[in-house]
Amino acid sequence: MLRNGVDDAAQRESLIEQIRAKGVRDERVLDAIRQTPRHLFVPESHRQYAYLDHALPIGEGQTISQPSLVAQMTQILELTGNENVLEIGTGSGYQTAILRRLSMRLTTIERFPRLTLQAYRNLQSLNLPPITFVMGDGTCGFPPYAPYDCILVTAGAPPKIPQPLLDQLSPNGGKLLLPLGSREYQLLTRVTKHGTRIRAKTFGECMFVPLIGKYGWQPDEVEPWRRQSR
Ligand code: SAM
Repeated sequence: MLRNGVDDAAQRESLIEQIRAKGVRDERVLDAIRQTPRHLFVPESHRQYAYLDHALPIGEGQTISQPSLVAQMTQILELTGNENVLEIGTGSGYQTAILRRLSMRLTTIERFPRLTLQAYRNLQSLNLPPITFVMGDGTCGFPPYAPYDCILVTAGAPPKIPQPLLDQLSPNGGKLLLPLGSREYQLLTRVTKHGTRIRAKTFGECMFVPLIGKYGWQPDEVEPWRRQSR
């Protein structure tokens, strides 16, 4: 379809060049971006901006992440296609689609039921293999399918890593990638687990909406209107 006089595929190629310029070289990741029409995940009101490298609003005060960040995070996970993956923060389902193309099994958790439903609808037309959708608090992980080879958190966590996520990570090199820090800025951090040994590596600053839950930020710390109503 033509948008701003340029078709979606051409806009996607230009986006891929911008993502490449930001250091993403994994061709499998770039290919997953190429195959995933981002405009399907963006509300009608913002569709004209779907192929700009920007985060965009998706309702409930949440955002679809910046595509270059989605690509960078996916590259950091080094997926080979055989992994059991848990995503926390389904949002629009865009990152979900990318992860599903590159893994064996995917479970995704979202705290807003309306976003889960919308993400489910967004993903339906893509004919991807099955995805497990969970509505609830992702800071508690999802024990039924643990251990996970990879856990990706797409919302900003406070400096202390949620313990259930560490517990549900595979001891055979399982990787947990999450933004850790303050409410405003976080450091993208990858934690790797070998046996009981945990190693952390950081990948620069980022800005995400807060991870709200039992092992994340408390609602009244990040949603001021709750404080007033107490
Ligand atoms: N990756 C998503 C995409 O491509 O559209 C964007 C994710 S958005 C930046 C972060 C999401 O995390 C929001 O939808 C938010 O509601 C969700 N979230 C925040 N805290 C959560 C929690 N404890 N459990 C599950 N989801 C949570």
